[in-house]
Amino acid sequence: HAAKRGQSGISFYDPQAGRLSDARVSFQHAVERALEHDEFRLYYQPIIDLASGQIVGAEALIRWHDPERGLLPPSEFIPLAETTGWIAPLGEWVFRRACSDVKDWQRIGLDLRISVNLSASQFNSPELIDQLQNELDTAGITARHIELEITETAVMEDVLHSAEIMRKLSALGLRLAIDDFGTGYSSLAYLRKLPAQTIKIDQSFIREIDTDPEDLEIVKAIVALAHVLGRHTLAEGIETEAQYQLLKTLGVDLGQGYWFSPPLPEPKFLQRALSWQQRTGVDTAIGED
Ligand code: C2E
Ligand code: MG
Ligand code: MG
Ligand code: MG
Repeated sequence: HAAKRGQSGISFYDPQAGRLSDARVSFQHAVERALEHDEFRLYYQPIIDLASGQIVGAEALIRWHDPERGLLPPSEFIPLAETTGWIAPLGEWVFRRACSDVKDWQRIGLDLRISVNLSASQFNSPELIDQLQNELDTAGITARHIELEITETAVMEDVLHSAEIMRKLSALGLRLAIDDFGTGYSSLAYLRKLPAQTIKIDQSFIREIDTDPEDLEIVKAIVALAHVLGRHTLAEGIETEAQYQLLKTLGVDLGQGYWFSPPLPEPKFLQRALSWQQRTGVDTAIGED
């Protein structure tokens, strides 16, 4: 049966259950080869303290530098990796690289926290805790330099089980963030049980925050809720100065977005982060120089 091209360019559709489709097999080979040939890259996007304008951290975002297809965004392969089980070695690679980058930055005097995305299956894997501890030990960094991002949707699949995993991760000293907050099903009662320091407000609420009164009210409510529970808020996808100023006024603690900087390849991020850190704050887009 010929593989159909799906939204992602590859489809695993195969009517004969129990047999992997050709596309699925070739995807496995491609990921294996890519790991061997070092084709994955971590890009970093700065996380800004909105009140001071200082860079306080960075989110690691994976890219696949495929020699034939060029630079692929995570949407092109993370969902596939998740359904084929290839997310495990990929996730391990991401965490290892993030830890070693943090260590390298520390050596040259750049003290930043790195945020790492975890997919649902990684988060639910029984090996997660041992793996993470292992990688932290190997890199020789303390856990508090790493924040793990788990999407609200993944957390809410089984909220009590999630809370238990999160308590174990917290016990290692790792920081936790709930990603894409507001897009899934949440309630105040559940949020209380989840030991996440940071609530990342999904970019869909930020996009029109200065023109859509409903989005504005939702963000206000999330900020009020998060602060009552003693959590930090972070606004994703800040693209304009107007959004930045408004979010700052609302008391949102942290921000990320193209207004400050797009995700950058590691060497470029490092170079810019060093110069941003010299400053006392940003009044304009920090990605401009
Ligand atoms: P996310 O964790 O919510 O990451 C934020 C996404 O928003 C990133 O897309 C980032 O490039 C994009 N973004 C940042 N600033 C702006 C902005 O101002 N405007 C707009 N429109 N977008 C902005 P990206 O890098 O394509 O990643 C997409 C998703 O893929 C991530 O969403 C995350 O869920 C997943 N992902 C990325 N890297 C990893 C990884 O290493 N492991 C896992 N499991 N998932 C990853
Ligand atoms: Mg994220
Ligand atoms: Mg997000
Ligand atoms: Mg997202």
